[in-house]
Parts: sequence; C-alpha cells; structure tokens
Amino acid sequence: MTAPGPVPVLRVRDLVKEYGEGDARVRALRGISLDVERGDYVAIMGASGSGKSTLMNILGCLDIPTSGTYLIDGADVGRLDEHQLAILRNRRVGFVFQSFNLIPRMSALANVELPLVYGGIGQADRRARALAALEQVGLTDRVHHEPNQLSGGQQQRVAVARALVTAPALLLADEPTGNLDTASTGDVLEIMDRLNESGRTIVIITHEDDVAKHAKRVIRLVDGEIVEDRRQAPVDGPPPRLPEKDRVAAR
Ligand code: ADP
Ligand code: MG
Repeated sequence: MTAPGPVPVLRVRDLVKEYGEGDARVRALRGISLDVERGDYVAIMGASGSGKSTLMNILGCLDIPTSGTYLIDGADVGRLDEHQLAILRNRRVGFVFQSFNLIPRMSALANVELPLVYGGIGQADRRARALAALEQVGLTDRVHHEPNQLSGGQQQRVAVARALVTAPALLLADEPTGNLDTASTGDVLEIMDRLNESGRTIVIITHEDDVAKHAKRVIRLVDGEIVEDRRQAPVDGPPPRLPEKDRVAAR
C-alpha cells in the first residue's frame, strides 16, 4: 500500500457529460481529470460553450456526469444517496453565481442565514455566524438591507458571505464578476484573494484574463477538454482597496 497523502479537496477522473440523444447529442465534457489541493486558487477559463458551467454544476453536485468519478474532500460523490448528497452540497461546497441568486424581500442577514437553516443550526448561532460572514465581506452596515436596496457589487458580496457561512471545503464561483462594474469586480476579487490567503480553496470560472490573474493556477477548456493547466505567480502589487467604510475587517 502507498502511504496516504493529504486528501485533495477535489479529485476528478475521466468526467464525461453528454446532453441529449442521437443526432441532438452534445458532448459537453470529454474526459476531464484533475486534482485540486487544499488552499489552491484555480481559474477555469474557456470560450462560451466550452463546458465551464457544466463542469461547475457537476463539481457542485447540482448535476450528475454521464460517466467518470469525482471525490469531494475524499467522498465519492457517485456513491452517495440523495440525503448524503444534500448534506455534502450544503456543507462542503459554497456557490457564487454570476446573477447573485439572492432571495428577494429577504434581508442580507436572512439570505446568509439560509444555508444554516437547511443545515439545522440553532437561531442564535445562525445569526452570529451570518453576521461574522457579512463582516468578512465588509457589509456590517448593510445586514438589514434587502437585495434590491443593494448595489450589484454589494449583492455579490452578500452571495459570497452566504457561500462562506457553512465553512465549506471549497468555494465554487461561476463568472462571479460577470455582471459587475470594474470597482465592484475589484472588491469581490479582493475578498476572494483574502479568503484564499486565509486557506480557503477556490475554483473560479471566468473568461476574463484580469480575473484569472488573481488565481495561482489556470486551467483552460476547449470543447470540453483541458488543453492547458499551469501555475502562475500571484497577481503583483497590492489588491485594489475597498472604500474605507466597507473595508473588510483584518483577519
Ligand atoms: P460554458 O459555461 O463554457 O459557456 P456550458 O457548460 O454552459 O459552457 O455548455 C457546454 C456545451 O453544452 C454547450 O455546447 C452547450 O450548448 C451545451 N449544453 C449546456 N447545457 C445544456 C443542456 N441543459 N442541454 C443541452 N445542451 C447543453
Ligand atoms: Mg457558463
């Protein structure tokens, strides 16, 4: 037997995803294999239609592959029943989407508490953890605002807090800055950088070079295949600063 090494956060082998049947069949993923180690910061890049969202949805347990295996934190997702899968999705993976996906007419605080409600955590504990997550994204002064009372950048920071509140092994973000202006993009990327510096594992999907340069590793997809997988030096120079009042509390 080989000595057990550290368990990677993600271990993906020969992942294939096909949509449709017969002539309409699309092979969105054609055999993806990769490992993501704890603490890594990975950007997945590729043209529209190259399979990025398909891969993210499978890694986040929102969809199932046609074939292939993948382990999250050592758990073989294909062998889990519905209940185990729901627990994994809720506790081990945090999602950030391009379109924020916050629940309207619910405060930022209530949105961030929601994954903990599903996770069966008591109310006082939920509130304390949600407030701490909102502090991490610099929104302590906006906790009672509803999504439509927040800017796009602030809404996305609430979504990051919601993704973080369960302390997941992995943060998955699909084009998280795709709907944001330059200043808000800088804010969200600064938060991601900070989270990674404090040990959080991040996989971010983007087609923007300016976003990908924040990552430590870049994987490029073409037509559902990995064509490039390289390490890169972290972005040079200090990250863009948040406005004074919104600044994320020091770690
Ligand atoms: P990306 O996120 O890189 O733009 P996607 O993963 O969304 O790419 O799509 C990869 C390919 O799979 C595309 O050809 C797309 O048209 C196809 N596809 C994605 N979702 C579906 C679906 N639900 N049904 C059929 N084809 C799909
Ligand atoms: Mg996509």
